[in-house]
Amino acid sequence: MLSSGREFAGSGLCVWPSRRIVVAVMAASVLLPIEVSEAGWLSDVFKGSSKPSKSPAHVTSPKHATSAKRAASPKPRYVRLAALSPANLNLLKPGATACEPSKFRIVLDVGHTAESEGATSARNVAEFTFNLRLAQRIEEKLKADGFPETKLLVTEGKAKPSLVKRVAAANELHANLFLSVHHDSVPNSLLENWEFEGKKSHFSDRFGGYSVFVSRDNPDFKTSLSFAELVAKEMKAEGLQYGRQYTLPIMGRYQHPLLNKETGVYSYDQLVVLKSTRMPAVLLEAGSIINRDEEIKMDSPERRDIISSAVAAAAKEFCGPQEAFLGPP
Ligand SMILES: [Zn+2]
Repeated sequence: MLSSGREFAGSGLCVWPSRRIVVAVMAASVLLPIEVSEAGWLSDVFKGSSKPSKSPAHVTSPKHATSAKRAASPKPRYVRLAALSPANLNLLKPGATACEPSKFRIVLDVGHTAESEGATSARNVAEFTFNLRLAQRIEEKLKADGFPETKLLVTEGKAKPSLVKRVAAANELHANLFLSVHHDSVPNSLLENWEFEGKKSHFSDRFGGYSVFVSRDNPDFKTSLSFAELVAKEMKAEGLQYGRQYTLPIMGRYQHPLLNKETGVYSYDQLVVLKSTRMPAVLLEAGSIINRDEEIKMDSPERRDIISSAVAAAAKEFCGPQEAFLGPP
């Protein structure tokens, strides 16, 4: 279940190369003026700029002095990118610093805390318990699939301060990607009563399914959305259905814009953990625990395996374009 908590400002940028840019560089690889073939310029390309960087005001460093001398040369010299040695090719590899799975740090944020446990399931189990078990399984799967830097983030304390703590922890860990793991419920107004094991309990079988959220206020919304799209696509490919309820007026203040009607990606702009993290951030509502049938499935190791596989497949695909460009690892 989602809670936005109080807002606070986030800053910083996290750049990410897109497949389109990599392909564009490949297409332009026949002949290039040598000054624009330098790694410095290419790193700008991979950061999303198509223009060679302008001379900075401080041109005292040897690198900048060399660039200035080349710029003044009457004839441009050319170099074939295809002739670059493998060592030089490493300079072209955005994944060397950006998306090499062995160095890529995904922070798995366990939604809520032991003190403030989030939603309560139809059978009176805390959402935090579901979130922790699933996030641990995702952590195992990601590590086994070549992402050894994956970190599980378990936060303590009350709900609202915990939001600030988890954002600070992710920022300090220099995470490349932040994925918050939750399980869904419904607004209190939609709850119905039943008795489970002799105890008065609540349920709603009306809605179910997973949902994926991003904030358009995240400093790298575009990359957040890319990863969200991949997670949602892989969840769907596993045969799971997304929850369509967030577009309905009955959801009141929990209503959210649907960004992808095919796979189930919504925006939730004011969510602290999505907008204040300094890296791409995505929140996964893995499934409903207030829906009585779905709760049983979400409680099973099989469903945790399916969801973990979907997330791992999304992570691999996310880091995939660089591997495709430079060949197998
Ligand atoms: Zn939650």
